Amino acid sequence: MPPARRPFQNEKQDEKIEKMNERTMNAAVLYGKEDLRLERIPIPTPEPGEIVVRVTAALTCGTDLKVYRRGYHARMLQPPIPFGHELAGVVSAIGEGVTQFAAGDRVVPLNSAPCDACFFCLHNQQNLCDDLRFNNGAYAEYLRVPARIVQKNTLLIPEDVPFAHAALTEPLACVIRGLEEAGARPGDSMIVIGAGPIGLMFIHAASLAGVEVLAIAKREDQVEAARLFGAQQVLRIVEGQDTVAAARALTPDCRGADIVVEAVATPATWEQAVAMVRKGGTVNFFGGPPTGTVVALDTNRLHYGDITLKASFHHTPATCRTAFDLIASGRFLAAELLTAQAELIDLPNIFHRMLTRSLTNTRDIKTAIVFHSELSTHNSELEAQALPALS
Ligand SMILES: [Zn+2]
Ligand SMILES: [Zn+2]
Repeated sequence: MPPARRPFQNEKQDEKIEKMNERTMNAAVLYGKEDLRLERIPIPTPEPGEIVVRVTAALTCGTDLKVYRRGYHARMLQPPIPFGHELAGVVSAIGEGVTQFAAGDRVVPLNSAPCDACFFCLHNQQNLCDDLRFNNGAYAEYLRVPARIVQKNTLLIPEDVPFAHAALTEPLACVIRGLEEAGARPGDSMIVIGAGPIGLMFIHAASLAGVEVLAIAKREDQVEAARLFGAQQVLRIVEGQDTVAAARALTPDCRGADIVVEAVATPATWEQAVAMVRKGGTVNFFGGPPTGTVVALDTNRLHYGDITLKASFHHTPATCRTAFDLIASGRFLAAELLTAQAELIDLPNIFHRMLTRSLTNTRDIKTAIVFHSELSTHNSELEAQALPALS
């Protein structure tokens, strides 16, 4: 007997399934506390004013780790939700009315854009916008970019800047805003408490701006990294040692630093920051501890020391551009911040490992998740990028 022909209907079904596969993509979805899953979800299509970006590099970030550990972010996301916010990619589709960008453009779509109409926007505090439009979902093959971010906060990447470097724009923009808020000027002395990814970016951006940085780090690999990124002095935390006294002893005339940046996010380091600043100096509490955290500060020291306390959240379109220009200039050691490269499928394991990172002693700053054929392109881009040594 000849083999039975496949019924017509099945062929149709196969075709349908194939079409469905074409229209879905791999994406990381956060379901809650330490629950990150890879799923196939539909490839987004752009509404009027929107673009869709084929992601080529997405970077792991301390904020994502915080959200992963807590299972939510008060301002940015509630699960289940596509995850990740530092990325670069290529425009794959444009919505009706988009004239700024075309398919094939290399872009960094930032993770938010302000309304420019509310009280805070009109008072030059767009980072505090009442209607900040966030966008998440960088750990996916494609990302839809809302119209407002297309209009106000999507940047074109020059040909000679690797995607993964350009993806550093978001965290660096937060750091640049922190430096601006602290009023850092060339020749100032600055203590940076913490040498994680954000602490290292502060150290680097400040030293490139001519600020003399004393870094306070916990692990040996962080001490080395702090030096690499331009810290003139590094104090390694030693059990039982008075960190405040040791830090002050390294400042000019032991009077404390002009500026202290806290980049650890614990009550103890917030309190240390205030104790390390000089009279008339400025503290920037950059690290955000969990809601409800309370710290104890000496009012006498604050009042008679004439100390300015600041905290910075997020970025503005202007600091995004400053950060982007710094990366594009080649002066910023972007490649040194990207200590690992992986594929999307590894992401749940990477986050799991990041939870215990402080127990290891190897330099592990940021991981670039790379997509499609970018794995090889990215390698050659990194090799081709010969960055000047920090002077
Ligand atoms: Zn980030
Ligand atoms: Zn606003």
